[in-house]
Amino acid sequence: MSSYDFDFLVIGGGSGGIASAKRAAIHGKKVAVVERARWGGTCVNVGCVPKKIMYQAATLAEQMKHDVTHYGFEQPQVKLDYQLMKKRRDAYILKLDNIYENGLAQAGISKIIGDASFIDAHTVAIVHGDTVQNVTADKILIAVGGRPMLPDIPGMEYTITSDGFFEMEELPTKAIVVGAGYIAVELAGVLNGLGVDTHLVVRKHKALRTFDDDISDHLDKEMTRQGITIHRNTNGLSKIELQPDGKKKVFMVTEAMNPIGDADIVLYAPGRIPNTESLSLEKVGVEVLPGSGYIKVDDFQNTTAENIYALGDVCGKVELTPMAIAAGRRLADRLFEEGKELSKTSYELVPTVVFSHPTIGTIGMTEKEAVDKYGEANIKVYKSKFPNLYYGIFQMESDDKPKTFMKLVCAGKEELVVGLHIIGMGADEMLQGFGVAMKMGATKADFDSCIAIHPTGAEELVTMGLWGTSPQETGAKVSPLMGAPPPEPTL
Ligand SMILES: Cc1cc2nc3c(=O)[nH]c(=O)nc-3n(C[C@H](O)[C@H](O)[C@H](O)COP(=O)(O)OP(=O)(O)OC[C@H]3O[C@@H](n4cnc5c(N)ncnc54)[C@H](O)[C@@H]3O)c2cc1C
Repeated sequence: MSSYDFDFLVIGGGSGGIASAKRAAIHGKKVAVVERARWGGTCVNVGCVPKKIMYQAATLAEQMKHDVTHYGFEQPQVKLDYQLMKKRRDAYILKLDNIYENGLAQAGISKIIGDASFIDAHTVAIVHGDTVQNVTADKILIAVGGRPMLPDIPGMEYTITSDGFFEMEELPTKAIVVGAGYIAVELAGVLNGLGVDTHLVVRKHKALRTFDDDISDHLDKEMTRQGITIHRNTNGLSKIELQPDGKKKVFMVTEAMNPIGDADIVLYAPGRIPNTESLSLEKVGVEVLPGSGYIKVDDFQNTTAENIYALGDVCGKVELTPMAIAAGRRLADRLFEEGKELSKTSYELVPTVVFSHPTIGTIGMTEKEAVDKYGEANIKVYKSKFPNLYYGIFQMESDDKPKTFMKLVCAGKEELVVGLHIIGMGADEMLQGFGVAMKMGATKADFDSCIAIHPTGAEELVTMGLWGTSPQETGAKVSPLMGAPPPEPTL
């Protein structure tokens, strides 16, 4: 019999924490999860889910405003009841919170509400209102996620973060979005799509600079075409002022551009930081990375303290929900399932979607990363740009139609696909299957050997560069699967 209250105590009831706790319970362990705010964590409450609902709303608005008349419909007279949408969105999220909470109960997991911090390597103090409860466990998982970063700039109190975006009771008339990452471009796209005069302030020359250049350039053009005003090379904000009429004015470090005024909201979204300060990590020897504060872990989610583990956004490595879930499940398998001592999560080839307008789907290396790693002579790049058939009927010049762009980055003689990047309609739903193929080591010839689904945007990805050329002519090795039946599973 263990002398501890629990075999496994999870701090943080978000994506990674809940997934790991449930898996540990399946392995017959006595498990508890501590949560200080809302069950489900960032993704469900102030991240992926409300964001995707807002993205859908903006997409609908754009279709009704711009697209339907091209198909012969009369311009519909539609008006968004923003408060009604928000009410329905919040009700849906509350339902999800309850599903998460009930799921824990059904799995026999103890739920503890409160703010957790370490007392020693096996004891955690949990503060809830005036009460403090000490809970002990054999193994402890830190899955506390992160929060929006708020630097010390005068007037920050007049800004909102992505969390505040989801609390907005009214749609603004003018919004300034500050940031160059995926959250900034997604929320700018939502605001613009819903008819808000949207300004995007980026520190350098464009947003999404870590993405493949062709993709970020394409998005830049699309955002501009759709009416978002991009303020570039601002070097960041120097201050935010409240105008007498309650609107906000932002000043940038690059003075020549100042100011941008009359904004109903300034949405500050340049990045996130880990929720580590209040955990008293120093008491148990859990080290954090200098500068960033992310928890230092090895490939197996071990921290620098024995029997204490960390995963998800608090580790700062691929900050995505499915990544946290996968890491949580694999960790519980490793700790509690016999024969799974080597179970760990791969952080390679993780497919990612940005719900910008239009969407981006990307997996693997950018062209630049591939060139740096393998040398230019060993890289072959295939690109395609075309208007989706959706726009075929549009009453406008071909050049003016929104384009989908796709790119395959291939390496070596066999043309192993090491990077795949798409921007355009349907990129979000298209990417997953290609991710599986790349995980299995697909080459360009494997892509070519798959019959395209017509008419879809995805077909371009399996025929790129093939018109008029054969795989042999492109230098690609013909896959052994080409023309052969798919391999039989071993039963
Ligand atoms: C606006 C936005 C959009 C996003 N969109 C996507 C998307 O489309 N796709 C995607 O994959 N990812 C998306 N993400 C990222 C995704 O939400 C995170 O990667 C994911 O939630 C990380 O899970 P986690 O378990 O590490 O942390 P979280 O989900 O953040 O959970 C951590 C939990 O720990 C709790 N906690 C913190 N400290 C303590 C403490 N001391 N005691 C007790 N509890 C504590 C918190 O309250 C929180 O509930 C988005 C994020 C944001 C902000």
